Amino acid sequence: MKYLIWANFKMNKSTKELKEYLEVFKSKYACFLHIDLMIAPVTSGLWIASELLEWSCINLWSQNMYFEESWAYTWEISPSMLNELNCTYVIIWHSERRQYFNETNEFINKKVKAAISHRIRPILCIWESLEQKNKWLTKEVLKIQLIEGLWWVEDVSKVDIAYEPVWAIGTWETATPEYIEEIHDYIRELVWNDESRIIYGWSVKPDNSKQLISIKNVNWFLVWSASLDPESFLKIAEVE
Ligand code: PEP
Repeated sequence: MKYLIWANFKMNKSTKELKEYLEVFKSKYACFLHIDLMIAPVTSGLWIASELLEWSCINLWSQNMYFEESWAYTWEISPSMLNELNCTYVIIWHSERRQYFNETNEFINKKVKAAISHRIRPILCIWESLEQKNKWLTKEVLKIQLIEGLWWVEDVSKVDIAYEPVWAIGTWETATPEYIEEIHDYIRELVWNDESRIIYGWSVKPDNSKQLISIKNVNWFLVWSASLDPESFLKIAEVE
């Protein structure tokens, strides 16, 4: 199986910085045999990134999208606009979208369906808070998020799931390998197919990526802070 490592730049890097990053990155990146690297710049960088990455083996994905095709939706980007930019994946429901932008389960579910109908593979993020974890509610919370996010999705194998234990937020901590394995196994049971990838995303760094990739049902990473520097992102890819 090919591993996939996703860099989500969030609201970082001006167009100039992004260009510099991609140039350094491309010069050092020799295609890995078993790994695909994906980069999601801020929306203003999608166009330049799409041009710069055109002939490379680094793929482009989007941090978000709206579910409608066009109309009066200030600041939004539609699925077909992402098709034009060669974005083949989109992340949906990142914890920050829920926390700061109040995206509801119903709203998210519309995005998942719109992405699939435009042949964009949605990565649905699920997570539990520290309070929920401490009350042993993790599995229940994740199950509800999956049910609501995937409501009436005909083919769940067209969706990937990213598990992000956000209680390790902003720290250099990760959940223990046993914990991650238990949760990833549980998610695998819930999605009921082998094609949905279950992606681990939280505090993945060059010094823990090898250990994390060896955990059953972890073949994919979602990375933010350690992806902002091209050298550190490439080191994570050296799990190969
Ligand atoms: C994230 O915020 O989605 C994330 C994965 O962050 P970090 O890699 O910094 O833990």
